[in-house]
Amino acid sequence: MIVMKFGGTSVANFEAITRTISIIESKLDSRPVVVVSALSKVTDLLYKISDAAAARNQEETSGLLSALRSRHAGLAEELLHESPALLEEAMVRVNALCDELDGIANAVCALGELSDRNKAIIISFGERLSSTVICFAMNAKGIRTNFIDARKMMITSDAYLKGEPVEEEICARVPAMVTEAYSGMDAVITQGFIGSNLKGEQTVLGRGGSDYSASLIGMAVGAQQIEIWTDVDGVRTADPRKVENTLCLERISFEEAAEMAHFGAKVLHPLTIEPAVKKCIPIYVLNSMNPSGKGTAILRSELIEDGVKSVSFKENIRVINIFSMKMINTSGFLRRVFEIFSENKVSVDLISTSEANISVTVDSSEKIDKVVEELSSFADVIVDEDKSQVSVIGKNIVRLNGMLKKTFTPLRRCNVYMISQGASFVNISFVVDREELTDVVKELHRHLFEHPEELEAF
Ligand code: ASP
Ligand code: MG
Repeated sequence: MIVMKFGGTSVANFEAITRTISIIESKLDSRPVVVVSALSKVTDLLYKISDAAAARNQEETSGLLSALRSRHAGLAEELLHESPALLEEAMVRVNALCDELDGIANAVCALGELSDRNKAIIISFGERLSSTVICFAMNAKGIRTNFIDARKMMITSDAYLKGEPVEEEICARVPAMVTEAYSGMDAVITQGFIGSNLKGEQTVLGRGGSDYSASLIGMAVGAQQIEIWTDVDGVRTADPRKVENTLCLERISFEEAAEMAHFGAKVLHPLTIEPAVKKCIPIYVLNSMNPSGKGTAILRSELIEDGVKSVSFKENIRVINIFSMKMINTSGFLRRVFEIFSENKVSVDLISTSEANISVTVDSSEKIDKVVEELSSFADVIVDEDKSQVSVIGKNIVRLNGMLKKTFTPLRRCNVYMISQGASFVNISFVVDREELTDVVKELHRHLFEHPEELEAF
């Protein structure tokens, strides 16, 4: 069995879905569990609907709801016009789903009150609609496809908008449901992103969560592989929006992929790797617009060569510097500092310490006022704004001869505020001024990937 997940752009419209269905058709021998996202931009639209309804803007709400209905009805029409019986049935389903959504959105609009629970219900309709239409389209192509409601198997915590998967429940339910759905069928299809808690109330996994769903399903069924079909040729050596001559990586390790995903490389949801690692299931990142491309394989570390794979960055961070003489020769100081971060739910990325100083980086979106106030009661605190974190990622780079020279020589003209070399051996990270970021990333990429010979001159 394999899991094939198709993101929003792979199911955006008639052409994309037609291409996607032929990709699925070519893999029927592997018994695919197909996991789909909402059609591209539909989840954004559903967020807008819930905002408009919460603001009691009836006109806007109705306009958006009818746009959603006509997009899906129009798509069903295009995909199924040669199979009138299926088209009729699909229209009944699409309209029933849209009626249900209209009812909820209009009720929210009347009350002007939107709970997270109702918001989760509203944004789940994207995947419910896309999977319904695509299931009919697959059947119309002669692929006997059964439909599984992910809400019955993707069990999460009560956090309605960012449910945390309850793995024992998922593993207990998914295999039986998939096997049953497969009987007499060529394929099964289900939704990414959506689930429910143990009380049966609807939840979602958080934005971009369909990859995570696919990986959890793959883990639960012990899939041979998990395929993440997207609209790029795979994972690249750097973000192509910053660097021109990036290369596509043929294979990387789970650890390297996890590090890269945390930089919002936008290719994979950061939690996707974890379930796959547990059962050592390879993940392939593939391009549905270029299905014959090789994509990127994400494999266990033993199959991956040592060396640099990526220059990643976080553009907008701040450094919090904490100084205190009390730190010298005492214990428990670090605990006190990090308890403050933890109590205020501020997530720390890099840490470096010396005798009387701790520096940490946090994302600029974190609210740190309370942290700074509390730390200031026993230490001097200086916050440096407008910084960026750069990370060089690759298996065993920390152990490779000359790697620090290769990393820092291209940077010899700029200020480096913090350096942290993870014990994981896959990551060397440092902090620079935000205004230098583009140059730094370009220079590093050039020396590490494009013209490594230039470094020899130093
Ligand atoms: N449709 C959801 C989103 O846009 C989940 C996903 O596509 O992964 O966030
Ligand atoms: Mg996605």
